[in-house]
Amino acid sequence: MAIAPYRIYAVRYAHRKCTTSECFYGDYRGAPMAMDYFVWALTNGSETVVVDLGFTESVGTRRGRQFLRSPEKGLAEIGVDVRSVKHVIVSHFHYDHVGNYALFPNATFYVQDSEMAFYTGRNASLGAFRHSIEVDDLCAMIRLNYEGRLSFVDGAREIVPGVSVHHVGGHTAGMQIVSVAHARGQAVVASDASHYYRNFEERIPFNTLHDLPRIYGAFDKIRSLASSPDLVLPGHDPLVLDRLKKVGDGIVEM
Ligand SMILES: [Zn+2]
Repeated sequence: MAIAPYRIYAVRYAHRKCTTSECFYGDYRGAPMAMDYFVWALTNGSETVVVDLGFTESVGTRRGRQFLRSPEKGLAEIGVDVRSVKHVIVSHFHYDHVGNYALFPNATFYVQDSEMAFYTGRNASLGAFRHSIEVDDLCAMIRLNYEGRLSFVDGAREIVPGVSVHHVGGHTAGMQIVSVAHARGQAVVASDASHYYRNFEERIPFNTLHDLPRIYGAFDKIRSLASSPDLVLPGHDPLVLDRLKKVGDGIVEM
């Protein structure tokens, strides 16, 4: 039976001002720009998958981010009840992608082996890596594992029919992206494998990274999986809200 195509929603939950030097490798201008924070929902009527969790208001406020609403509220606007979601893909363990696990009491969380190994391993506490982690969130992931709530992937796997994860690394050791069967072909939720459209379009890495060559490999993987470049969703780009169809306040549909 053919897979019913998915609608893909980007739900903005937070915002901050940043600089070009933070976002584009080799940029020393420090020009002002903006960063949005999203979670994503994929739904085709029979299956619903949420990609990433966002940070909590307390963590966001402590880190100087402008918290706009709980991801729970944004997802509710498109008919996704967080309590009934069964599948959550965690693209990586940075604080802005893994904080709201408690909103999803009935979900299995899909993570890459290499992400858990790295952030429980010898290099995790080095400043460059530790900066992007909330240790409490990481401990929560470990607890969820012992509760049987994590599903580990080593590489690629289909999560539900039409939705697969693919390990790319680069930004973090276990960074994974998501391919989605869309009415116009195969779409890719790139999350932080490409923070902005410009990162993958012009092959410029983001400036927070784990493995620079693998970032370029991730750009290649995004392009090879996506049926066309306009079926790629970057992780933090405010332009997403302009390029896609608006269905709510800070919510767009692909
Ligand atoms: Zn991020």
